[in-house]
Amino acid sequence: MKDMEVSELADLLDVTKLVVSTIEMDKVLESILESAMRLTNTSAGSIALYSNETHELELHAYKGFSQDFIGNARWLVRPGGLTDKILHSSKPTVITDTTNKKFFTNPLAIKEGIKSLICVPLTVEKKIIGVLYVDDFKPRNYSKAELKLLSILSTYAAMSIDHAKLLDKTRKLACTDGLTGLYNHRHFQDTLSKELSRAERYEEPLSLMLADIDDFKLLNDQFGHTFGDTVLRRLAEILMAATRESDTAARYGGEEFAIILPKVNSSQAAAMARRLMEEIDKNMASLMRGKLPLTVSIGISSFPDDSTKPLELIKKADKALYEAKRLGKDRVVLYRETRG
Ligand code: GH3
Ligand code: MG
Ligand code: MG
Repeated sequence: MKDMEVSELADLLDVTKLVVSTIEMDKVLESILESAMRLTNTSAGSIALYSNETHELELHAYKGFSQDFIGNARWLVRPGGLTDKILHSSKPTVITDTTNKKFFTNPLAIKEGIKSLICVPLTVEKKIIGVLYVDDFKPRNYSKAELKLLSILSTYAAMSIDHAKLLDKTRKLACTDGLTGLYNHRHFQDTLSKELSRAERYEEPLSLMLADIDDFKLLNDQFGHTFGDTVLRRLAEILMAATRESDTAARYGGEEFAIILPKVNSSQAAAMARRLMEEIDKNMASLMRGKLPLTVSIGISSFPDDSTKPLELIKKADKALYEAKRLGKDRVVLYRETRG
């Protein structure tokens, strides 16, 4: 008995070390699951994360199940169903024999042959963030000690999920601009380098768009800085709506925006820029009522024609933008149009 306690403690200690030292959440969860299965002497188990917004559970660690069973890695929690009950009870749910249980209706789980299980809701500050399951393929009882150990492990699992979420939030915050929510300058630089390498590798084009608001200083002077900020935020929304998932829209500077367009050549980028200007005109109209319409000037450079290097590509888009301003603003200029 004493020996067993020591080995269990050692197991818990190993998991603790991992929780505090590992950044990769799924690795930690896998290890927690393995410990949970070892300590409860069960032959299968899983850990799923719960989203409060979509009411979905998403599988993040699993062991001992067939491919059929774990094939569906994301599922909706049915209100009033077993999982919903488990999620909303503060204690682990123990089912010693699933045979002919009215509530145990999941056809996949029945087909898999799950006969007994423990489900532990994972909570942080009373919010449910996931579920830890250990399962067995025969009916059985669980001891108090087993349940106690499982509850300690579930605390670790919750901590590690919470930690990962916080880290994710911090990472996102570090690369977004506070006013507009667009990517910031640093993230833009990183992404441009990465996307250029990709474009080179796959021999695909890439275009860079730099957009600068026309006479923004005047607008600030006439209507105040706060109104100027509102315009910047609105413009950012328009940019986000107008770009695709694979594009990167960033706040390049004060009232300058940069958009990386992978797989887009210069003439396609010019067409996109003109469409963007129309969107800005249309969507800014109500905000700008009684004022001059808001316009932007756009400069475009493209890989591989204009340059293969990130900094040079930026410089050339900037040169095209400067030319757009020089020619009277409210227009699109390609870098190649600036030569000669
Ligand atoms: P141009 O048409 O040549 O681009 O003229 P402009 O007035 O837009 O250009 P300029 O670079 O002279 O002025 C940019 C202005 O943008 C000046 C600055 O006060 C304003 N600005 C920069 N960042 C912010 C911001 O975060 N909020 C607000 N409200 N204004 C900003
Ligand atoms: Mg500017
Ligand atoms: Mg400007």
